[in-house]
Amino acid sequence: MLDVLVVGGGISGGSAAIYTAQGGLNTVVIDSGKSQIKQVSKVFNYPGIKEVSGPELLENIKEQAVAAGTEWFEGTVESVEMKESAYEVSMSDGRKLYTKYLVIATNLQTSILESLGFELAVNEKVPSGKIKKVLGIGLDGKTHLSNLYITSLLAGLSSQSVIASGHGASVGISIVSAETGKSYMWHDK
Ligand SMILES: Cc1cc2nc3c(=O)[nH]c(=O)nc-3n(C[C@H](O)[C@H](O)[C@H](O)COP(=O)(O)OP(=O)(O)OC[C@H]3O[C@@H](n4cnc5c(N)ncnc54)[C@H](O)[C@@H]3O)c2cc1C
Repeated sequence: MLDVLVVGGGISGGSAAIYTAQGGLNTVVIDSGKSQIKQVSKVFNYPGIKEVSGPELLENIKEQAVAAGTEWFEGTVESVEMKESAYEVSMSDGRKLYTKYLVIATNLQTSILESLGFELAVNEKVPSGKIKKVLGIGLDGKTHLSNLYITSLLAGLSSQSVIASGHGASVGISIVSAETGKSYMWHDK
């Protein structure tokens, strides 16, 4: 069984995986390759990086996650079921994986959350009024379901990569801290 499975390898999911893998947890990301940042030819507002293309920023995050020990699968998660002490994650190619901690980092895609019974509301921080969120999610990304975490817009945050990335990192830290029973700090080794 995996420690952590992240559904969605965009900015937030990839960032979560950097932290859970670096924190020593056996981590897999499954990504269907449709991150919004791929549409952006130049990103000028990611602090510390004056200019980067969206695809390059995304690839760098993936490389950092893999360097930390993450296994990265291309593919689509079709369904998730809660079993007694694990989540069963089924991919559209028929593969099934089992994980203790599950991170939903699917951004615009809400079907997995709906199938797990989450109620969705409008994320009012996005002006279009079309983006959904789960109510009551904090910076640690925890939900009422045991060991299930949500990132980014789905957690009610504002749009922009630095926010998605920071929230992913925060979720990763919260998972490592929950698993080890002590507050995790990257540089505190
Ligand atoms: C037109 C446009 C311009 C933008 N410009 C900027 C900008 O200049 N600067 C900036 O900082 N931000 C910009 N953004 C916002 C930025 O793209 C987002 O903040 C960021 O991508 C959100 O990260 P995320 O991880 O939440 O979602 P995403 O990066 O979108 O990642 C979600 C990932 O989940 C995957 N996924 C979904 N469902 C499944 C499934 N069932 N199984 C497997 N994988 C799944 C998707 O394929 C995708 O890869 C822009 C967005 C848009 C649309």
